[in-house]
Amino acid sequence: MIYDLCDLNVIKKLFNKYGFKFNKSLGQNFIINREICPSMAKECLIYGENIGVIEIGPGIGTLTQQLGLKFKKVICIEKDKRLFPILKDVLADFKNVKILEDDALKIDFKKLVQEEFKNFDKVIVCSNLPYYITSPFIMKILETDCNIKGMVLMIQKEAADRICALPGSKDCSAISIAVRYYSSAEILFGVNSESFIPAPKVSSSVIRISTNGAYRSDINDKSKFFKVVKASFEKRRKKIVNSLSMSLGLSKNYLEEVFDKVGISKLSRAEEIKFEDFINLSNIIEF
Ligand code: SAH
Repeated sequence: MIYDLCDLNVIKKLFNKYGFKFNKSLGQNFIINREICPSMAKECLIYGENIGVIEIGPGIGTLTQQLGLKFKKVICIEKDKRLFPILKDVLADFKNVKILEDDALKIDFKKLVQEEFKNFDKVIVCSNLPYYITSPFIMKILETDCNIKGMVLMIQKEAADRICALPGSKDCSAISIAVRYYSSAEILFGVNSESFIPAPKVSSSVIRISTNGAYRSDINDKSKFFKVVKASFEKRRKKIVNSLSMSLGLSKNYLEEVFDKVGISKLSRAEEIKFEDFINLSNIIEF
């Protein structure tokens, strides 16, 4: 049997039966717009049909059902134990879905992939993320050396704009550069707040991040590269020379010399710097 989890009466009945109440601090906003979950699952097909899927925060299983219908194996990680009786009920007929109680920021993804997806050549993440974990979660996946090839994620619109921003454009920030180091990111579609219960105060977007697997070989020292990027954006409104000088404790004279060498204008702000220029900058600068 498949529950219609976008029907408010069905949701209310489940909540009453299992005594569930929303927990705001866990970012619980459940999807009730019936177009969204099938579309998100469809966007995962770009990685093939024989893939393993990890879902973060299944909630009452609305997206899980769609993933379970399309893919061979789905592992869900849910922090809120109170949702387990509902998930057990709703997903009773989905033998290919497994729910684990854990925290997406703490779980060892390398081990999870090795244990659960041994015979899969690709694993992806699909999730309507609890918004408070967006950046640390994305960075955690990108920095973990495992077989996760892509992510289809619903996140807050502003975060999506920042994460997918091209270097040199107005929304660009340290996370845009970090994501680009490991992957390519694109916005797939927008989602309004009425698509959820309860309706959040912000709009949302679904994005796709595809990892390259290969790290940038033109970057001499990865940790230095990330330090320079972070320091450049630390004082966002200031010129990058000032921001770097303050954050890294370097003299402006020295920085101006470095900027001349790399061929970047000393008047630039961090969001105006191209990805390649960040690479050149971090390869030359010393601190
Ligand atoms: N996927 C569902 C629910 C999304 S709401 C839907 O689209 O309707 C976010 C979900 O993430 C909730 O179920 C919440 O309990 C869960 N969650 C919150 N923090 C988490 C964490 N750190 N790790 C795993 N799950 C978490």
